[in-house]
Amino acid sequence: MLQKAKTLDPGLMVRRCVACGYDGALLRGGHAEICARCGCNLLKRPARSYAEMEGLLGQPMTLDEPLSSPRRQERLIHRWLVFLFLTAIGFIALLYLATATFSV
Ligand SMILES: [Zn+2]
Repeated sequence: MLQKAKTLDPGLMVRRCVACGYDGALLRGGHAEICARCGCNLLKRPARSYAEMEGLLGQPMTLDEPLSSPRRQERLIHRWLVFLFLTAIGFIALLYLATATFSV
């Protein structure tokens, strides 16, 4: 993807360490595992060009887990259960208030 993008400023396309900004040869175009200057773990926090960081190349900003990972699905289920629980509580409260209003 990085090779397909065109710009007048090639500096925007150079991958650099996002912790210290190092973009030297030891970074090996963003394929090194550790930044040679600051020791940042580039597997967890990969080197990015400015164009990638700004989303101009359509690549993800982080190495976030994929949509289909079990942990992400588990969090989605938890969020829905919390939503359903709070909706049920709200409905019961509304029902209680309605019966209290009409019983007077
Ligand atoms: Zn660094």
